[in-house]
Amino acid sequence: MIHCEGLVKIFKSDNVEVVALQGLNLSVGAGEMMAIIGNSGSGKSTFLNILGGLDRPSAGQVRVGEWDLLKIEDKQLVEYKRKTVGFIWQNNARNLLPYLTALENIEMPMMLNGKVDRGYAKQLLEWVGLKDRMHNKLQQLSGGEQQRVAIGISLCNHPSLLLADEPTGSVDSQTSDMIMDIFRKLNKEIGVTIVIVTHDMELAGKVDRVVAIRDGLTSTEFIKRNPNLEELGRLSEHKSTFEEE
Ligand code: ADP
Ligand code: MG
Repeated sequence: MIHCEGLVKIFKSDNVEVVALQGLNLSVGAGEMMAIIGNSGSGKSTFLNILGGLDRPSAGQVRVGEWDLLKIEDKQLVEYKRKTVGFIWQNNARNLLPYLTALENIEMPMMLNGKVDRGYAKQLLEWVGLKDRMHNKLQQLSGGEQQRVAIGISLCNHPSLLLADEPTGSVDSQTSDMIMDIFRKLNKEIGVTIVIVTHDMELAGKVDRVVAIRDGLTSTEFIKRNPNLEELGRLSEHKSTFEEE
């Protein structure tokens, strides 16, 4: 489903260059549910944004299904985003409309895409456990419920790939569990490939595979490129264990 090789992303502003991804190699199989972990600033969001067509890669290979995201033209990129990916952020509430109902919030993007499918909109609300609340205005829903509406919206166009950037970052642990259950169900029952960026190790334990990113590389690649640094890290770990003893 996803194939990245030597993926590089450089942000340039004024005279400053930030290398956010420095040759990332990472593949994700169709139907996989995986998590990406890593320190803040390690390039997790950059990677997800590139997969979601929100950011352009600087170099390397990055393919999602049939789409070559390095060579793709802007017009095709719009089509790619619409047809292939669903995106969920930490704070989706900003993108929701408080005075419309949950159902209307889901129908709105469908309308913008030219076709409202009310039956599917209702089914989406059922999937995210909000069937009973579909006629409530968004502002009457809790943060966690709003986040679940956002998950529903991300599925409007029947995406084959769901990208979630810290989706449980601002909800309580009960809601976080619920969101993970929804992801698992979508993954199992409709076969959506899911990539979740998270800080939460507990959450990372609930997926098929976890990949750690470090300074814009997978941690395996990082260690290969910085063997001495890793050696130093291990020495200092031993040292502190020794000191504790
Ligand atoms: P993470 O999501 O792992 O915290 P990011 O992908 O957001 O990390 O950021 C990786 C690096 O790229 C950081 O050094 C960050 O400051 C930089 N970066 C991210 N987005 C931009 C941008 N739009 N312009 C300049 N630098 C950016
Ligand atoms: Mg981030």
